[in-house]
Amino acid sequence: MKKNQLKHAPITQFLQNKGCLQIGGMPLPRLAQRVGTTPFYAYDRQLITERITLLRKYLPTDIQIYYAMKANPMPAVVQHLATLVDGIDVASAGELRIALDTTIPPNQISFAGPGKRDNELSCAIASGIIINMESEQEMKRISILGKRLGIRPKVAIRVNPDFELRSSGMKMSGEGKQFGIDAERVPPILAQMNTLELDFKGFHIFCGSQNLSAKAIQETQEQVLELFLHLAKKAPDPICLFNIGGGFGVPYFPGENSLDIKLVCENLYSLVEKIKKHTPGTKIAIELGRYIVAESGIYVCRVIERKISGKRIFLITDGGLHHHLAASGNFGQIIRKNYPVIVGNKITGQKKEIVTIVGPLCTPLDLLAEEIEIAKADTGDLIVIFQSGAYGLTASPTAFLNHPAPIEVLV
Ligand SMILES: *Cc1c(COP(=O)(O)O)cnc(C)c1O
Repeated sequence: MKKNQLKHAPITQFLQNKGCLQIGGMPLPRLAQRVGTTPFYAYDRQLITERITLLRKYLPTDIQIYYAMKANPMPAVVQHLATLVDGIDVASAGELRIALDTTIPPNQISFAGPGKRDNELSCAIASGIIINMESEQEMKRISILGKRLGIRPKVAIRVNPDFELRSSGMKMSGEGKQFGIDAERVPPILAQMNTLELDFKGFHIFCGSQNLSAKAIQETQEQVLELFLHLAKKAPDPICLFNIGGGFGVPYFPGENSLDIKLVCENLYSLVEKIKKHTPGTKIAIELGRYIVAESGIYVCRVIERKISGKRIFLITDGGLHHHLAASGNFGQIIRKNYPVIVGNKITGQKKEIVTIVGPLCTPLDLLAEEIEIAKADTGDLIVIFQSGAYGLTASPTAFLNHPAPIEVLV
């Protein structure tokens, strides 16, 4: 099949009624009235709940689910998820504050990320969460700060394995990375835990993100397990926690299909058994961001003008890359591709046309969809970008051109 004939996988998670998209049990135009302005992000509470239910259905019960908050740190979303998941993974002191406001206990919160500042580490030590150490230097700083605070820091080692997650959208392991401690340097570090007065909890191995291949994820899980078993033998204390990473992707672009979650989870049963046999008492966690929230969210903007230039039709909207960088193709994509987009108040029975949807910014990069077939839209119509519940607002340069920031609602 030629590339330009590829289609988006159908979006089936939202209902529609009388040609309008429904979200949170409400027709989209009504929600827009309720919000009072466009653009906005809307996240569907029920869909988030259903996603966790789906994971629990297929995952071995021994595996805990951690939410990687950077995917969507909206406090209402995190509060909702706190009632559903077992733990939260944060990547800054700011995210840590949001996590600590929930009912998730501190020992179920972990803090990963390179370049943690001393004051962030101090907050983390004082709050009693587990710090995933990303370097030897960080380990020494944590030890000094812990002694200064009179608190024994809880730590885990983030291991940078010498393999990577094949066919993943974003690789975060393998030779030479800013993340984690190279696997071969881990054993000598383990021997220092007691002298450094650190409370060693376990290992964190995260290989990559946005993977849609169950087979590739399975292969990586096997490798992660082997590495874990090798390192576990060198650990001074029993290992409380093993975070096996995640990397589960969602379909964004034409030709992509949903991850076979059943297949991914099936593989984990034998893995869990092996861990139970070799290191009984180890708690196993999986950490997921986008897989939990991406498909429950939409970004909504309004058409300001329908403009014809040359042979092209442009819909100029009040939304753009300053709110949704990923949909514009500027958040890590190599080739720009369209997210799934519809006219949310004109889904069915409308004449269709091929349009390019842009924002109000003075840059040709401000593209929300390029040459897509969509219901014929005009001023006032609502453009919906699907798969927008993760890496949306907080992954966008909202200050660029000084337009108002979009609103976020959980419905
Ligand atoms: C970003 C990140 C995640 C989440 O990745 P998703 O693709 O959103 O699931 C998980 N763990 C770590 C360590 C991360 O940095």
